[in-house]
Amino acid sequence: MGVYPVVLSQAKFVHRDSLKYPFEERGLQFGDGIYEVIRIYRGNYYLLTEHVERLFRSAKAIKLELPYTKTELTELLNGLIKRNQMTEDGKVYLQATRGSAPRDHVFPENLTANVYAYISKQARPLNQLEHGVCTITERDIRWEKCYIKSLNLLPNILAKQTAKEKECYEAILHKDGLVTECSSSNVYLVKDGHIYTHPVTENILHGCVRMAVERFSEKLNIPFIEEAFTLEDIKSADELFLTSSTSEVLPIVKVDGAPVADGKPGPISKKLQAAYEQDASIQTETVKQ
Ligand code: PLP
Repeated sequence: MGVYPVVLSQAKFVHRDSLKYPFEERGLQFGDGIYEVIRIYRGNYYLLTEHVERLFRSAKAIKLELPYTKTELTELLNGLIKRNQMTEDGKVYLQATRGSAPRDHVFPENLTANVYAYISKQARPLNQLEHGVCTITERDIRWEKCYIKSLNLLPNILAKQTAKEKECYEAILHKDGLVTECSSSNVYLVKDGHIYTHPVTENILHGCVRMAVERFSEKLNIPFIEEAFTLEDIKSADELFLTSSTSEVLPIVKVDGAPVADGKPGPISKKLQAAYEQDASIQTETVKQ
Protein backbone atom coordinates (compact mmCIF):
# COMPACT_ATOMS: atom_id res chain seq x y z
CA MET A 1 0.00 0.00 0.00
CA GLY A 2 3.03 2.23 0.04
CA VAL A 3 2.65 2.94 3.76
CA TYR A 4 5.68 3.14 6.04
CA PRO A 5 5.69 1.04 9.26
CA VAL A 6 6.70 3.64 11.83
CA VAL A 7 3.90 5.98 12.89
CA LEU A 8 3.87 8.92 15.25
CA SER A 9 1.51 8.39 18.18
CA GLN A 10 1.44 10.79 21.13
CA ALA A 11 5.06 11.84 20.47
CA LYS A 12 6.25 8.20 20.32
CA PHE A 13 7.41 6.36 17.25
CA VAL A 14 5.64 3.02 17.19
CA HIS A 15 4.79 0.29 14.71
CA ARG A 16 1.50 0.98 12.94
CA ASP A 17 0.15 -2.46 13.97
CA SER A 18 0.37 -1.45 17.64
CA LEU A 19 -1.95 1.55 17.17
CA LYS A 20 -5.22 0.74 18.90
CA TYR A 21 -7.48 3.67 19.61
CA PRO A 22 -10.44 3.01 21.87
CA PHE A 23 -13.94 3.05 20.46
CA GLU A 24 -14.71 6.08 22.56
CA GLU A 25 -12.48 8.29 20.52
CA ARG A 26 -13.99 11.69 19.77
CA GLY A 27 -12.58 11.76 16.26
CA LEU A 28 -14.39 8.51 15.49
CA GLN A 29 -17.60 9.34 17.31
CA PHE A 30 -18.04 13.03 16.50
CA GLY A 31 -15.48 13.88 13.85
CA ASP A 32 -14.21 16.07 16.70
CA GLY A 33 -10.80 16.82 15.27
CA ILE A 34 -8.67 18.33 12.55
CA TYR A 35 -6.04 17.17 10.06
CA GLU A 36 -3.38 18.14 7.56
CA VAL A 37 -1.94 16.53 4.44
CA ILE A 38 1.56 17.76 3.67
CA ARG A 39 3.44 17.00 0.47
CA ILE A 40 6.85 15.36 0.58
CA TYR A 41 9.25 15.58 -2.35
CA ARG A 42 12.31 13.35 -2.22
CA GLY A 43 12.07 13.04 1.55
CA ASN A 44 11.52 16.78 2.19
CA TYR A 45 8.33 18.51 3.24
CA TYR A 46 6.97 21.21 0.96
CA LEU A 47 5.22 24.24 2.56
CA LEU A 48 5.60 22.69 6.02
CA THR A 49 5.42 25.99 7.92
CA GLU A 50 2.18 26.95 6.16
CA HIS A 51 0.60 23.60 7.06
CA VAL A 52 1.70 23.73 10.70
CA GLU A 53 0.34 27.28 10.99
CA ARG A 54 -2.98 26.20 9.49
CA LEU A 55 -3.20 23.22 11.84
CA PHE A 56 -2.85 25.55 14.80
CA ARG A 57 -5.47 27.90 13.33
CA SER A 58 -7.88 24.97 12.94
CA ALA A 59 -7.13 23.82 16.50
CA LYS A 60 -7.88 27.26 17.89
CA ALA A 61 -11.12 27.45 15.92
CA ILE A 62 -12.44 24.24 17.50
CA LYS A 63 -11.00 25.04 20.97
CA LEU A 64 -8.62 22.08 20.79
CA GLU A 65 -5.41 22.37 22.73
CA LEU A 66 -2.56 20.70 20.86
CA PRO A 67 0.00 19.10 23.17
CA TYR A 68 2.98 20.54 21.27
CA THR A 69 4.32 23.88 20.21
CA LYS A 70 4.71 24.54 16.50
CA THR A 71 8.46 23.95 16.82
CA GLU A 72 7.98 20.65 18.64
CA LEU A 73 5.49 19.44 16.05
CA THR A 74 7.81 20.43 13.22
CA GLU A 75 10.64 18.47 14.85
CA LEU A 76 8.41 15.43 15.33
CA LEU A 77 7.33 15.53 11.69
CA ASN A 78 10.94 15.77 10.54
CA GLY A 79 11.74 12.84 12.87
CA LEU A 80 9.04 10.79 11.16
CA ILE A 81 10.77 11.11 7.80
CA LYS A 82 14.16 10.31 9.34
CA ARG A 83 12.92 7.25 11.29
CA ASN A 84 11.37 5.85 8.12
CA GLN A 85 14.49 6.74 6.10
CA MET A 86 12.14 8.17 3.54
CA THR A 87 13.74 9.71 0.46
CA GLU A 88 10.88 9.43 -2.03
CA ASP A 89 7.89 11.50 -3.09
CA GLY A 90 5.05 11.11 -0.64
CA LYS A 91 2.82 12.79 1.88
CA VAL A 92 2.16 12.85 5.58
CA TYR A 93 -1.34 12.57 7.02
CA LEU A 94 -1.59 14.15 10.47
CA GLN A 95 -4.71 14.00 12.59
CA ALA A 96 -5.47 15.56 15.95
CA THR A 97 -8.66 14.78 17.84
CA ARG A 98 -9.94 16.02 21.18
CA GLY A 99 -9.07 12.63 22.70
CA SER A 100 -10.64 9.50 24.12
CA ALA A 101 -13.35 9.64 26.79
CA PRO A 102 -16.85 8.31 27.50
CA ARG A 103 -19.14 9.71 24.86
CA ASP A 104 -20.56 13.13 25.65
CA HIS A 105 -21.25 16.06 23.33
CA VAL A 106 -19.75 18.41 25.93
CA PHE A 107 -15.93 18.42 26.00
CA PRO A 108 -14.78 16.09 28.82
CA GLU A 109 -12.43 17.85 31.23
CA ASN A 110 -8.66 17.23 31.36
CA LEU A 111 -8.59 15.40 28.06
CA THR A 112 -5.35 15.07 26.10
CA ALA A 113 -5.57 15.27 22.32
CA ASN A 114 -4.81 12.16 20.27
CA VAL A 115 -2.28 13.15 17.64
CA TYR A 116 -0.95 10.76 15.05
CA ALA A 117 0.81 11.04 11.74
CA TYR A 118 1.99 8.60 9.10
CA ILE A 119 3.77 8.95 5.81
CA SER A 120 3.06 7.15 2.58
CA LYS A 121 4.32 7.19 -0.97
CA GLN A 122 2.54 9.53 -3.35
CA ALA A 123 3.58 9.88 -6.96
CA ARG A 124 3.12 13.18 -8.76
CA PRO A 125 0.04 13.21 -11.07
CA LEU A 126 2.26 13.71 -14.12
CA ASN A 127 -0.26 12.62 -16.73
CA GLN A 128 -2.97 14.92 -15.37
CA LEU A 129 -0.50 17.79 -14.98
CA GLU A 130 0.32 17.55 -18.67
CA HIS A 131 -3.14 16.94 -20.14
CA GLY A 132 -5.49 18.48 -17.57
CA VAL A 133 -8.55 16.96 -15.90
CA CYS A 134 -12.34 16.84 -16.26
CA THR A 135 -14.62 18.14 -13.51
CA ILE A 136 -18.28 18.29 -12.62
CA THR A 137 -20.15 21.00 -10.71
CA GLU A 138 -22.01 20.31 -7.46
CA ARG A 139 -23.92 22.39 -4.95
CA ASP A 140 -21.74 23.36 -1.97
CA ILE A 141 -23.76 21.89 0.90
CA ARG A 142 -21.03 22.19 3.55
CA TRP A 143 -21.22 24.13 6.81
CA GLU A 144 -20.20 27.77 7.32
CA LYS A 145 -16.71 27.16 8.72
CA CYS A 146 -14.92 25.53 5.82
CA TYR A 147 -11.70 27.39 6.76
CA ILE A 148 -11.28 24.78 9.51
CA LYS A 149 -9.61 21.62 8.18
CA SER A 150 -12.04 19.48 10.12
CA LEU A 151 -12.52 15.71 10.01
CA ASN A 152 -16.14 16.18 8.98
CA LEU A 153 -15.76 15.49 5.27
CA LEU A 154 -18.99 13.77 4.31
CA PRO A 155 -20.17 16.47 1.84
CA ASN A 156 -16.67 16.56 0.34
CA ILE A 157 -16.36 12.81 -0.14
CA LEU A 158 -19.89 12.57 -1.55
CA ALA A 159 -19.08 15.27 -4.12
CA LYS A 160 -15.78 13.59 -5.04
CA GLN A 161 -17.50 10.22 -5.35
CA THR A 162 -20.10 11.73 -7.72
CA ALA A 163 -17.21 13.13 -9.79
CA LYS A 164 -15.56 9.70 -9.87
CA GLU A 165 -18.81 8.03 -10.93
CA LYS A 166 -18.94 10.49 -13.86
CA GLU A 167 -15.32 9.64 -14.70
CA CYS A 168 -14.14 13.05 -13.54
CA TYR A 169 -11.28 14.08 -11.26
CA GLU A 170 -12.96 16.71 -9.10
CA ALA A 171 -16.21 18.44 -8.23
CA ILE A 172 -16.35 22.24 -8.44
CA LEU A 173 -18.56 23.44 -5.59
CA HIS A 174 -20.87 26.44 -5.84
CA LYS A 175 -23.31 28.32 -3.64
CA ASP A 176 -26.20 29.61 -5.79
CA GLY A 177 -23.91 29.65 -8.83
CA LEU A 178 -20.99 31.33 -7.05
CA VAL A 179 -17.93 29.05 -7.10
CA THR A 180 -16.29 28.48 -3.70
CA GLU A 181 -13.68 25.74 -4.21
CA CYS A 182 -13.52 22.03 -5.11
CA SER A 183 -14.19 19.02 -2.88
CA SER A 184 -10.49 18.75 -1.96
CA SER A 185 -8.77 21.63 -3.75
CA ASN A 186 -8.99 25.36 -4.50
CA VAL A 187 -10.12 26.50 -7.94
CA TYR A 188 -9.21 29.46 -10.16
CA LEU A 189 -10.44 31.03 -13.40
CA VAL A 190 -8.24 32.86 -15.88
CA LYS A 191 -9.73 35.63 -18.04
CA ASP A 192 -7.80 38.21 -20.07
CA GLY A 193 -4.55 37.44 -18.25
CA HIS A 194 -6.07 37.79 -14.75
CA ILE A 195 -6.52 35.03 -12.18
CA TYR A 196 -9.80 35.02 -10.24
CA THR A 197 -10.50 32.94 -7.16
CA HIS A 198 -12.83 33.01 -4.16
CA PRO A 199 -11.53 35.32 -1.42
CA VAL A 200 -10.21 33.81 1.81
CA THR A 201 -13.38 33.81 3.90
CA GLU A 202 -14.81 31.24 6.32
CA ASN A 203 -16.42 29.52 3.32
CA ILE A 204 -13.23 28.03 1.85
CA LEU A 205 -10.08 26.33 3.04
CA HIS A 206 -7.09 28.64 2.75
CA GLY A 207 -4.96 26.22 0.73
CA CYS A 208 -1.22 26.18 1.27
CA VAL A 209 -0.71 25.76 -2.47
CA ARG A 210 -3.14 28.68 -2.97
CA MET A 211 -0.80 30.79 -0.81
CA ALA A 212 2.12 29.67 -2.98
CA VAL A 213 0.22 30.39 -6.21
CA GLU A 214 -0.56 33.90 -4.99
CA ARG A 215 3.15 34.37 -4.40
CA PHE A 216 4.05 32.98 -7.87
CA SER A 217 1.48 35.24 -9.56
CA GLU A 218 2.99 38.29 -7.95
CA LYS A 219 6.44 37.28 -9.14
CA LEU A 220 5.15 36.60 -12.66
CA ASN A 221 3.18 39.89 -12.74
CA ILE A 222 -0.11 38.09 -13.24
CA PRO A 223 -2.92 39.90 -11.39
CA PHE A 224 -4.35 37.63 -8.66
CA ILE A 225 -7.87 38.82 -7.95
CA GLU A 226 -9.68 37.50 -4.89
CA GLU A 227 -13.15 37.72 -6.34
CA ALA A 228 -15.51 34.78 -6.65
CA PHE A 229 -16.49 33.77 -10.19
CA THR A 230 -19.74 32.11 -11.27
CA LEU A 231 -20.70 28.95 -13.14
CA GLU A 232 -21.73 31.27 -15.98
CA ASP A 233 -18.22 32.84 -16.06
CA ILE A 234 -16.73 29.39 -16.65
CA LYS A 235 -18.40 29.25 -20.07
CA SER A 236 -16.26 32.14 -21.33
CA ALA A 237 -13.09 31.41 -19.29
CA ASP A 238 -9.69 31.34 -20.97
CA GLU A 239 -8.40 28.78 -18.46
CA LEU A 240 -9.44 27.01 -15.30
CA PHE A 241 -7.18 25.25 -12.85
CA LEU A 242 -7.19 23.78 -9.35
CA THR A 243 -4.55 23.41 -6.66
CA SER A 244 -3.84 21.18 -3.69
CA SER A 245 -0.91 19.52 -1.98
CA THR A 246 -1.41 16.28 -3.91
CA SER A 247 -2.71 17.76 -7.18
CA GLU A 248 -0.19 20.65 -7.42
CA VAL A 249 -1.36 23.11 -10.14
CA LEU A 250 -3.73 21.11 -12.29
CA PRO A 251 -5.40 22.48 -15.45
CA ILE A 252 -9.15 21.81 -15.77
CA VAL A 253 -10.01 21.14 -19.40
CA LYS A 254 -13.68 20.15 -19.11
CA VAL A 255 -16.56 21.14 -16.83
CA ASP A 256 -19.79 19.09 -16.93
CA GLY A 257 -18.75 17.70 -20.31
CA ALA A 258 -18.08 21.11 -21.94
CA PRO A 259 -14.50 22.06 -22.88
CA VAL A 260 -12.86 25.01 -21.13
CA ALA A 261 -11.79 27.36 -23.98
CA ASP A 262 -10.03 25.07 -26.53
CA GLY A 263 -10.05 22.13 -24.10
CA LYS A 264 -6.29 22.21 -23.54
CA PRO A 265 -4.15 23.38 -20.59
CA GLY A 266 -3.55 27.12 -20.99
CA PRO A 267 -0.35 29.21 -20.80
CA ILE A 268 -0.94 30.72 -17.33
CA SER A 269 -1.60 27.28 -15.80
CA LYS A 270 1.64 26.07 -17.37
CA LYS A 271 3.60 29.07 -16.09
CA LEU A 272 2.30 28.41 -12.58
CA GLN A 273 3.19 24.73 -12.88
CA ALA A 274 6.74 25.71 -13.77
CA ALA A 275 6.87 28.16 -10.84
CA TYR A 276 5.57 25.40 -8.51
CA GLU A 277 8.23 22.96 -9.71
CA GLN A 278 10.92 25.55 -9.18
CA ASP A 279 9.64 26.46 -5.72
CA ALA A 280 9.42 22.80 -4.67
CA SER A 281 12.74 21.99 -6.43
CA ILE A 282 11.16 19.23 -8.49
CA GLN A 283 11.82 20.28 -12.08
CA THR A 284 10.96 17.51 -14.55
CA GLU A 285 10.87 17.17 -18.31
CA THR A 286 7.22 16.14 -18.25
CA VAL A 287 5.56 19.48 -17.64
CA LYS A 288 6.54 21.58 -20.64
CA GLN A 289 6.40 25.34 -20.78
N1 PLP B 1 -9.84 22.96 -0.27
C1 PLP B 1 -10.20 21.81 0.32
C2 PLP B 1 -11.65 21.61 0.67
C3 PLP B 1 -9.24 20.84 0.61
O1 PLP B 1 -9.60 19.70 1.22
C4 PLP B 1 -7.89 21.07 0.25
C5 PLP B 1 -6.84 20.10 0.51
O2 PLP B 1 -7.05 19.05 1.02
C6 PLP B 1 -7.57 22.27 -0.38
C7 PLP B 1 -8.57 23.21 -0.62
C8 PLP B 1 -6.15 22.57 -0.79
O3 PLP B 1 -5.35 22.80 0.32
P1 PLP B 1 -3.75 22.64 0.25
O4 PLP B 1 -3.30 23.49 -0.89
O5 PLP B 1 -3.29 23.15 1.55
O6 PLP B 1 -3.48 21.19 0.05
